Amino acid sequence: MMIPCPHCGDRDVSEFRYGGDATKERPQHGAGDLKVWHDYVFVFDNPKGPHTEYWQHVLGCRRWFKLARNTATNVIEGVVS
Ligand SMILES: [Zn+2]
Repeated sequence: MMIPCPHCGDRDVSEFRYGGDATKERPQHGAGDLKVWHDYVFVFDNPKGPHTEYWQHVLGCRRWFKLARNTATNVIEGVVS
């Protein structure tokens, strides 16, 4: 699978690190109880179909970006700004 790094261009997936769901909203610091933070850090959905994810180009520019990918087909729709 090739991933289009917005800074380096198309590169093999082996150069990247998956960073998780980019649609989860991070809780505010100091707000909420531990259950809110527990769920944010440890509870994940396993969506099938179109999804927005964080990826890091570890073996390249080392930058993080959001990628729209279909988790059922691995078809990449592109980088999300
Ligand atoms: Zn890059």
